[in-house]
This record gives sequence, structure tokens and C-alpha cells, in this order.
Amino acid sequence: MLANSLVELDRQHLVHPVSSFRGHEERGVRVLRSAKGATVTDSEGRELLDGFAGLWCVNAGYGHESVVEAAARQMRDLPYATGYFDLGAEAPIRLAAALAERSPGDLNHIYFSLGGSDAVDSTIRFVRYYWHSKGQPGRDQFISVEQGYHGSTTMGAGLTALPGFHDGFGVPYAWQHKISSHYLYRNPLGDDPQAVIDASVAELRAKVAEIGEEKVAAFYVEPVQGSGGVLVPPKGWIKAMRDVCAELDILFIADEVITGFGRTGPIFACEDEGIVPDLMTCAKGLTSGYIPMGAVFMRDHVYETIAEGAGAKAVGHGFTYSAHPVSAAVALEVLALYEGGLFENGVKAGVRLMAGLESLRDHPLVGDVRGRGMLAAVELVTDKVKKTPLPASMQPATRLFDRAWEQGLIVRSFAQGIFAYAPPLCCTDAEIDAIVERTRKVLDLTL
Ligand code: PLP
Repeated sequence: MLANSLVELDRQHLVHPVSSFRGHEERGVRVLRSAKGATVTDSEGRELLDGFAGLWCVNAGYGHESVVEAAARQMRDLPYATGYFDLGAEAPIRLAAALAERSPGDLNHIYFSLGGSDAVDSTIRFVRYYWHSKGQPGRDQFISVEQGYHGSTTMGAGLTALPGFHDGFGVPYAWQHKISSHYLYRNPLGDDPQAVIDASVAELRAKVAEIGEEKVAAFYVEPVQGSGGVLVPPKGWIKAMRDVCAELDILFIADEVITGFGRTGPIFACEDEGIVPDLMTCAKGLTSGYIPMGAVFMRDHVYETIAEGAGAKAVGHGFTYSAHPVSAAVALEVLALYEGGLFENGVKAGVRLMAGLESLRDHPLVGDVRGRGMLAAVELVTDKVKKTPLPASMQPATRLFDRAWEQGLIVRSFAQGIFAYAPPLCCTDAEIDAIVERTRKVLDLTL
């Protein structure tokens, strides 16, 4: 009864993010009520295994009392402190120091945002300021990768390369350029890693030459492309792209909003390739989704250049809620949980998840299985040789999601017929096995 009235209120008043307004009105909302560990319970008391950690964010799992206590303590002591006027609070200062210590190389300077989109948007502003400070304001062109996702702010949505975030919104802008994705499973060059790396390097060089080397400000990558379908680059791809940027004096920006905080194994996925980006963004796992927060990491040279350029002037970028003390207190506690065993468990669970999903390759609908750590995808096809995607008439995004839900599993399903997995790092062996078993049932029902 309560659920029904909520569904109606939702239909009438709540605008959902990245949803079909009409489709949502028809289907109605599924209301979630509570969660613990990797299990969420809906308003009818149905338990579901969350194979997607909310929206690839609840890395620590649900229901950690110590996180609730950290937030409550901070709210009691000091619920808000601005960072304007050279003021501050202890938690964000400690968090910035803790993150600087754990980040690769000299990414020592951290600006806190409210989430991933505004972290990316902030990098655009910092990058522009950086080049102005260097006396090269003409470096105002940005390059990103097809299939990439970098949020949906007015500027960041143009670095995103998914049509749904462009059509009807008038983005991307003329200063936002793309190169092809590595997408190994569907790369026209085949899946030879070195050939794909060489082609991407050549394409980036060609794109820079086409734009004009002296005009290119920055290049953005996700260490693993998430919303594009969990596309894992071949080993060495990120490093090769980083090297081109260093050679051409272009800022290299790693968007670790999904991959940060143990999602692929190490705390930051850049470590997988041993690279240090000039700037790095993260969000999601930073607070494990308990409260909004994102971050921009800057290397010493970026920070120093901006500082030098501004001199005594304020660098005019920041939000009322930048470095929010409650978010920072939560992030510090989440970090303690990660380092108290969750990162370790995530690495073990990731190996089991990948092995389990690999075992689905014998299924007639499974064309590809890919992933790294606790970030994975299964791509479905109707013909394995021709790699024919599921037809639109099957409405893969909603139908697959619904079928998984009926099996007690939450996973993301993309329109191309891709299941994406990002379970909480706290998953037990039994939970990982259940994710795989339930997926197989969904596939059988989809045949
Ligand atoms: N960057 C990447 C790589 C993401 O995956 C996302 C969100 O999924 C964002 C940026 C935007 O983050 P948010 O949704 O917190 O604004």
C-alpha cells in the first residue's frame, strides 16, 4: 500500500537521472528500503544481491556502523566549514593528506568536489587556468576517447562520448575532440594488443597534428572505460598514451571515478600501468556512496603553475560544499575499512568473479567476457562468429535488468546487450558464486 502510493508520488514528481521519462512513467520505480553487506532489500521485503554496488560506488558494502558514527560525530561537532577565507576543518585536511600519501607519484594536491561530474568539470577549469598561467591561453582544445564517460555537466558531457549525453543538448562543443576506443572485442583491427596500441598512438598523434600541437590542452582517459561497456585496454595502452602526451606536452588526465578505491585491485588503477597522470579524478568509492564527494588530484607542477599564475589573486573556482567535513569524515572511515581488509578481500573476490564469469563463455549467448578485479562485463551476442549484438527489439537494457532482478540479482545492463558487474569489495565467495549462477539463469531465460 505504502509502496503503491510512493510509486505514484515518484511518477508525478521525481525526475530520475539518466532515465527515459516516458519509460519510467510506464514502468514505475522500484523502491529500495535497506541494505547490508552486498544485499539490498526492496519495499516488499525482497532481497537482492547487488552486483553493481549501487552505481559502481558502494565499494565497501552497505551497513557499516562505523561510517554512520563517523558522519554523526562530525555532524555533531562541526557539520559545515567553508574552505573560503582560508578557513578549514580537520577531516578534509587529514583526508587530503591521506590521499596524497596513497596516490601515485607527486599527485600531492587535492581539491574536493561533490561527485565525479563536477570533479571532471573542475579539471577543465584548472587545465585552462594552468595554460593561461603558462602564457599559452591558446591551448584550449581537449581530447577524449570514444565510448568514454566523464560525467554530465555542461562541459564534461562533451568529453563523454556516448550519444545519449549529447543528442538534444547541443554538445560536444567544437573544442572537444575524440579518438577511437581500444574496445578489443569489436576493434576493426582485431584483438592483437600491440596493433591496437600502435593504432591508438598513431591516432592520438594525428588528432593532435590536425588540431595543432600548440592548441591541445589535455587528453582524458578512464583506466577502464566503464559506462561505455567495461572496456579494458590492452596492457600497455594507457602507458603508451601517457608517453605521447608527455612527449607532446599535453596534460594527461586519468578519470578514476569508477576505477579508484580498489575497484580493479590497487587503490588507483593507474598503478596497474605504473603511470602518474598530471591530474586525476575520483569519486564513488571515495566515500563508498555513503555521502557525495569527489576529488581532483594535481601533480606538483600543475599546482605550482596555477599558484604562480594566480599570485596573490584567488583562483576563482570552488563550491560552497567543496571539502565538506562530513563527507571527508566518512571518506576517512571508509579508507580505514578498505585498508582494514576490504581491499584485500576485493582482490580475492575479483579473481573469483573473473573465473566465474569466464565459465559462462560456453553459453550460446556469451560473446565476450572481460574485466579487471571487481569490474567486469559479459557481452551478449546472437551469433558468436559474427558477433551480432542483441537486437533492439529485445530491449536489452530493460529486459535483461528485469530478468536479473527476478533472479534476485542487480547488475547493470547496457542497450548493446552488455551486463556490467561491480560488486562491493566485501563480497563473500558464496555471493560471487551466486552472481555468476544467477547470471547463467538469466542467460538461459533469454535464449
Ligand atoms: N567519470 C567517470 C569515469 C564516471 O564513471 C562517472 C560516473 O559514472 C563520472 C565521471 C561522473 O560521476 P558522477 O556521476 O558522480 O557525477
